[in-house]
Amino acid sequence: MRAWDSYLAPAANVMVQMDKKLLRYLRKNFLWEVPGRFQAMQYFRASEYPVDSRWPDSEEIQALKDNFSEDELRAKCRKWDEDFERNVLLEMEKYPEKFPITRCPECGEVAFTPKSERCGECGHTWYGKNPLRKAP
Ligand SMILES: [Zn+2]
Repeated sequence: MRAWDSYLAPAANVMVQMDKKLLRYLRKNFLWEVPGRFQAMQYFRASEYPVDSRWPDSEEIQALKDNFSEDELRAKCRKWDEDFERNVLLEMEKYPEKFPITRCPECGEVAFTPKSERCGECGHTWYGKNPLRKAP
């Protein structure tokens, strides 16, 4: 068993061990922490949906539709997605506290979420021991 601090690896140490599971964890839990996400979602909505006047940003979405083709909007949205790995790493360097990485105390694999207390890899559980999970 390792000390609790080591489960929450500092982001800087994570850079060298960025793997598919870690990337999936970051995508699943921290999409909105990476700059440009809201804009990317506006491109997505503009390319895929008719404008809904109830949207607070309906005028912006209409302007996007007026100025770009659906393919251009999709490309803009895809660009954010393609740049995610690089941008999440840059953001983690600047604000490591915004990206807690919870790992299994037993096997060291990345957990499902920052507040996880169960490992999807080895089945180990650490209920009641994750400091990121508030007591009920
Ligand atoms: Zn494990």
